[in-house]
Amino acid sequence: MARVLYLGGFGRSGTTLVERLLGELPSVCALGEIVHLWQRDIRDDERCGCGARFSACTFWKRVGERAFGGWGNVDVDRVHALADAVERTRHIRRLASGQMPMDEVREYAGFYAKVYAAAAEVSGAAVVVDSSKHSALAHVLQWSEDIDLRVVHVVRDARGVAYSWTKTVTRPETDGTDEMTRYSPSRSALLWNAHNLAFGLLARRGGAVHRIRYEQFLADPRGALRELATFADLPLAADDLAFLGDGHADLGVGHSAAGNPMRFTVGRLPLRRDDTWTAAMPRGHRRLVGAVCAPMLRAYGYPLNAEQS
Ligand SMILES: [Zn+2]
Repeated sequence: MARVLYLGGFGRSGTTLVERLLGELPSVCALGEIVHLWQRDIRDDERCGCGARFSACTFWKRVGERAFGGWGNVDVDRVHALADAVERTRHIRRLASGQMPMDEVREYAGFYAKVYAAAAEVSGAAVVVDSSKHSALAHVLQWSEDIDLRVVHVVRDARGVAYSWTKTVTRPETDGTDEMTRYSPSRSALLWNAHNLAFGLLARRGGAVHRIRYEQFLADPRGALRELATFADLPLAADDLAFLGDGHADLGVGHSAAGNPMRFTVGRLPLRRDDTWTAAMPRGHRRLVGAVCAPMLRAYGYPLNAEQS
């Protein structure tokens, strides 16, 4: 049974950075956002984190052979149909209480379980990381008996998240032709509430959920990674964190299948908080998001009135 660290949270909350640092730990294999593997990689043959096209990446080729006898054997239409049927934010309450068509839930989770197990075998890693983020998918995977699921719930200040969603980012894996989605601040605020509530629900229903604040993770990446290693039952040796320097990390090549452009970064990555929003976000937007997200910002320990959190 594959041991999986699932990075969950609303987009732009820092999950890619957390994934990249986790991927540097020995015995950890970071896979990227597997939720997008079916379309973006199997169908569209986008680029792996190593730079190669998915079909040309040796790592993923071996994973596909082991998991399915080759990616060509995956019924991607079926995966999409199952995702449409069960992996929806509006189904989360029913998913959590087992009131969904459970055959379909388990069939859908089965595709992921096969990828995780094969990736663990091919890489030799004890833990694989899926940074898919989606709360509904975490609720689906929770029902699989073939996955040892441990969810890392990554929370970032809703105002920084909302500001980030207003900016335009090009997706380099499509060679600059496609831009990432943008949301208005009010839409971001509502989604931030919904996704974070969903991970709280997963924890209350007995899921293994460990919550981290992204700002805290950046303030003490060494301590945060030790905590996550403990959560994953992964023993760390003294020099396993040697890739972390003072305010930076040295990253090797990874095979992240899909996700944020940072997955292509190799070499020195500065680790600093992106607090641009505190100066650049229009006051009205900041107040709006602060008000809509107030109860949970407070619950997570974010100061509401301060200009900076
Ligand atoms: Zn690769």
